[in-house]
Amino acid sequence: MKKVVVLGAGYAGLHFIEKFQKRVDPAAVQIILVDQNDYHYQTTEIHQVAVGKTKPEQISYPIRDILNSEMTTFVQDRVLKIDPENKRVLLQKHAPIDYDYCILSLGFASETYGIPGAQQNTLPLTNVKDALAILAHFQKVADHYRKFHDPQDLQILICGMGYTGIELAGEINDIKPQLAKMAGCESKDIKITLINSLTRLLQQFDPKVAHYGVHTLTHLGIKIIPGATIKQIFPGVVNYVHTNDQTGQRHQLKGHTILWTTGVRGSQVIDDSGFANHHGRIKVTKHLTVPGHDELYSLGDVASVINPERAGEKYYSPSAQIALSMASFAARDLAGRLNGRPQKADYKYCWLGTVVSIGNTHAFGRALGVNVTGRSASVMKKLIADKSLYQVGGVGKMMKLGQFDLYH
Ligand SMILES: Cc1cc2nc3c(=O)[nH]c(=O)nc-3n(C[C@H](O)[C@H](O)[C@H](O)COP(=O)(O)OP(=O)(O)OC[C@H]3O[C@@H](n4cnc5c(N)ncnc54)[C@H](O)[C@@H]3O)c2cc1C
Repeated sequence: MKKVVVLGAGYAGLHFIEKFQKRVDPAAVQIILVDQNDYHYQTTEIHQVAVGKTKPEQISYPIRDILNSEMTTFVQDRVLKIDPENKRVLLQKHAPIDYDYCILSLGFASETYGIPGAQQNTLPLTNVKDALAILAHFQKVADHYRKFHDPQDLQILICGMGYTGIELAGEINDIKPQLAKMAGCESKDIKITLINSLTRLLQQFDPKVAHYGVHTLTHLGIKIIPGATIKQIFPGVVNYVHTNDQTGQRHQLKGHTILWTTGVRGSQVIDDSGFANHHGRIKVTKHLTVPGHDELYSLGDVASVINPERAGEKYYSPSAQIALSMASFAARDLAGRLNGRPQKADYKYCWLGTVVSIGNTHAFGRALGVNVTGRSASVMKKLIADKSLYQVGGVGKMMKLGQFDLYH
């Protein structure tokens, strides 16, 4: 009997199990899944929880629902470390687990790039708990404004204008009327500012698509500060320099809500386990294994896969899309090895596109080779989320939790 231990029940881990369970003989393989939570959540939707638009239970479901209990045992615990030499996983509460094969799919953590004060004085958005903390914070500043009329309570600063920052700004903008009601002010008094280190905004998109994105944000009243390199965060203050300013003169933005969406890194467990990595991501082999460890697969946000279409050593950006694709490949690859039919083909990723939402009805990006903006892009975004839901949780979860009101 071979023991396969899967660490993390996110997009990669759970999709791996869903595919793998169907491909191997239950009499020959035992699967153990470890996650710190007993639920799977759609990370791509957590910004909706952060603004109270969606409840956590609408974007999550019990992990056990997806497992074939004859083959797979679930252990709820926190992974501390992997000991690859002894093929063992160390957990916080349970005894160590030995494995024949292990799937590393522990996902991401917020990246502060060592900027002083970022960890202590900002709110990240990486999981359901973070999202609920942001929601509770909005209530706190609204209550404070009601009592003291401090204008800083109405200033929302979002550090980082990546997809998460933009999507979060859009969602907050949608709920401004509710926030205003809570605080006892007018919607127009609530100010949202996106702080971006790059001077060219959304440069990864076609110029027309980028223009749509920037124009929509500014038209909605969301202020963008481009070319601002954040140097330090104090309580209620973002300290930055203009990216091209040689003098290094510091500027300040003040606000009682500072949200941190500058980027993510792979799980800290990857560093703690001594794997060679860059920002918590392991540069995997062509079969998605850890170099020198054929028995270890690294998938999703803890892996780096080279994008052959880009010059130099450029990697695909982490996303739910690539996490699902890697999981599917690894399930076939490992099942093939266990069934005595090793796969010859190397992993290839077919990027289907990226669509970024701005609130419930605006979006922009590129999907299936076509530039998309506006309502149609927003519909596309919801369909993409439904597809991911289907890929991990099957038809039942998609029907229960999917977004079918595509136009509102
Ligand atoms: C707000 C937001 C919006 C996003 N939108 C999109 C989008 O629209 N499209 C897209 O493609 N991507 C999007 N992403 C990125 C996407 O969510 C990630 O790339 C994806 O979740 C990675 O999947 P994963 O399986 O590697 O990790 P995850 O889905 O993060 O799963 C990791 C799992 O590991 C568990 N875990 C972590 N550490 C431990 C530990 N020490 N012990 C035990 N368990 C642990 C976690 O509980 C979790 O279940 C978004 C991300 C964010 C934050």
